[in-house]
Amino acid sequence: LQARKSGQPWNVYDAEQEQVFVRHHLLFGKLREALIKQHLRVHYQPQIDLRTGRVLGAEALTRWMDPDSGMIPPSVFIPVAEESGLIRQLTNWLVDECMRDCAAWRRQGLDLHVSINLSALNLLDPALMGVLQAGLAKTGLHAQYVNLEITESCFMASPERAMEVIGRMHDCGFKLSIDDFGTGYSSLSYMKNLPIDELKIDQSFVRNLLNNQGDQAIVSSTIELAHNLQLLVVAEGIENTATADWLCSRGCDIGQGYSFARPEPADALVAMAIRRGTGRDMVA
Ligand code: C2E
Ligand code: MG
Ligand code: MG
Ligand code: MG
Repeated sequence: LQARKSGQPWNVYDAEQEQVFVRHHLLFGKLREALIKQHLRVHYQPQIDLRTGRVLGAEALTRWMDPDSGMIPPSVFIPVAEESGLIRQLTNWLVDECMRDCAAWRRQGLDLHVSINLSALNLLDPALMGVLQAGLAKTGLHAQYVNLEITESCFMASPERAMEVIGRMHDCGFKLSIDDFGTGYSSLSYMKNLPIDELKIDQSFVRNLLNNQGDQAIVSSTIELAHNLQLLVVAEGIENTATADWLCSRGCDIGQGYSFARPEPADALVAMAIRRGTGRDMVA
């Protein structure tokens, strides 16, 4: 485009573009290797019942420790996985790992669920349902203890297809959460028709909650909207107890954030669950 503008017939060499390309290509190779060599780990961040302080479950977050470069964050490798198609293998691995862990927690008598992030591409993968069902069969876990987190972006590429897949997941007994709620393209008109169980309020609304009246208005209204639709509400990114208290006073059901715990290996989650107790108190 630049070349045409300046009247030149050739393409201008774009060093920045090339760097991005090379970096993605290198990361693709490394990620493929990491999947084979099992350098990926699942960490779990507890989800806390804001009223009782009990641990209800945990969100699985993938961690990649590269022997050369150290920790590579999901914000870097998830886009590479999506663009290269490796997200399929990553999600297959993640599903098995999480279901095995959650089944083990439940055998120990801990009433915990596991929440798994799905990328928009996963929803378009016809093999996904088979992977989820095979995971249940292998581990003996019941689908009701698996929360599938999807974002509003899943509805952008192919809304009908996304709705259909979500319907099938629901029919299989999986729980469904809308992650990062409020940041994407959300159409309230089809939200009411989706068989979802939970809304996760994005951390961008929670971070400065106590100092920002706009965020307070958005968060309060979202809690009310969710409850009117019979959905549970999770607030992400809670970094201090004052924010947790505010959210609890507004009726927010579940909290997640550094104030409670960072994402950590399964052992840490189990220790916290034993200490705090598990399970939802059904109030009369
Ligand atoms: P997400 O699903 O919204 O996950 C929450 C992110 O917020 C996590 O970042 C978590 O570590 C971080 N977080 C939790 N509590 C706090 C807090 O109190 N303060 C702050 N500042 N951050 C907090 P993480 O692990 O870096 O993951 C980033 C995103 O990458 C995730 O956002 C998710 O969209 C994606 N992701 C991570 N693991 C996976 C995966 O296995 N599969 C897929 N498809 N996506 C993943
Ligand atoms: Mg999530
Ligand atoms: Mg989120
Ligand atoms: Mg996210």
